[in-house]
Amino acid sequence: MFRTSDEWIIEYQQNNALWIHDGNPKRPHALLTSGKHSNGFFNSRLVISDEVLLYDAASDLIELFDIQGGDIDEAQGVVGPQTGATKLAEFVSNQIMSFTRDDCFFASPAKILNDGKKSLVFHNYGKSLVRGSYVLLCEDVITTGGSVDLTIEAVDSVGGASMPFILTLVNRSGLTEISGREIISLIDRPMPIWTPEECPLCKQGSEAIRPKDNWDRLNARY
Ligand SMILES: [Zn+2]
Repeated sequence: MFRTSDEWIIEYQQNNALWIHDGNPKRPHALLTSGKHSNGFFNSRLVISDEVLLYDAASDLIELFDIQGGDIDEAQGVVGPQTGATKLAEFVSNQIMSFTRDDCFFASPAKILNDGKKSLVFHNYGKSLVRGSYVLLCEDVITTGGSVDLTIEAVDSVGGASMPFILTLVNRSGLTEISGREIISLIDRPMPIWTPEECPLCKQGSEAIRPKDNWDRLNARY
């Protein structure tokens, strides 16, 4: 392993990608784009764009996958939803090829909205790769597990099958599995999302602020 879970937390924090509230009500908390509040924030874009860091992350995920009993020889491809997990899927498939020396493709379905219903679809080339293949799933950050379910459906819909694991950088959902797929994460830290009315941090007097614009205030000493 390049880093333990605690070291990944420190690494992401130093990259301004991860912030976790320490429980001190003087410290502000995160106001998300959705208008909801949270005690944590993970900006995976900052990690995904750092290829050195992403290489280490993909490598550690494969090692954890192996420790959990996963068999990389079985993975014919890696699938992660656009856009957050596209590069992660590519890096994980490269890791698998470096170990097995077998071909391992990656594919990344895109989100579409049809009659108000969200789904993920592969483009034609991705479709032909996934059809008849046994694939390993990945996701940059698991918040509710919703896009993991959509990814499983997308794989099924083109005649592929997904392995009983899902690799992710950060699992903030509090779940250990999604639709029978065991979650394997570098960082496993539940970060609930609340409406302003139900937010326990607001009730304690903590202020809700936009994380990206107020990184220094979130991380100051209080
Ligand atoms: Zn709040």
